[in-house]
Amino acid sequence: MDLKEFVTIVPDYPKEGISFKDISTIMDNGKAYKFATDEIVKFAKEVETDIIVGPEARGFIIGCPVAYALEAGFAPVRKPGKLPRETIEVEYDLEYGKDVLTIHKDAIKPGQRVLIVDDLLATGGTIGATIELVEKLGGIVAGCAFIIELSYLDGRNKLKGYDMRSLITY
Ligand code: AMP
Repeated sequence: MDLKEFVTIVPDYPKEGISFKDISTIMDNGKAYKFATDEIVKFAKEVETDIIVGPEARGFIIGCPVAYALEAGFAPVRKPGKLPRETIEVEYDLEYGKDVLTIHKDAIKPGQRVLIVDDLLATGGTIGATIELVEKLGGIVAGCAFIIELSYLDGRNKLKGYDMRSLITY
C-alpha cells in the first residue's frame, strides 16, 4: 500500500510557510490505519520491544494500537500537569522558546526495551526529549518509529545512534 497517498498536505498551517502533514486521513481509513500500525509492529518485533512510549497527542494514536497488537504496555509522555502521579521532566528547545515533557517515574522499569512512537519526525526536539526521559528511568531505547519523517529538517542526524524507522519520507 502506498501510504503517502493517504496523507493530506495542508499548506500554511498552523502558520505561513509550514507545510502541515495531516495523518488524520490515514487514521480515518481503516485499511491504511491498520497497514501503518502493522508496519510499526513489524519493526517493534525486530528490535525486541517490551513497552511502547509515545508523546501526546498523536503519539498515542499511533502507539496504542501497536502496543495492543504486541500485547505490550504503553506509557504516555505528556506536557506538565497532565500526569497524576510522581513524574520526571525534561526541558527542550523549540524554534522560539522552550517546552517541557514529563513521564511517570515508574512508567519504565530499568532495562526494559522501549520503542518510541510518534506521528512525525520534524526537528527531533520532541523525540530527543522523550529519549532523555526513557533513559533517565533506565530504559533502553530499542528504536524510534514514525509514520512520517521530514528529512529536510534533519531530525535523524540529531538523534544519531538510535534505530529509526519511518514509513513515509518527504
Ligand atoms: P519536532 O519536535 O520538531 O520533531 O516536531 C514534533 C511534532 O510536531 C511532531 O510529532 C508533529 O506532531 C508536529 N509537527 C511538526 N512539524 C509538522 C508538520 N510539518 N506537519 C505535521 N506535524 C508536524
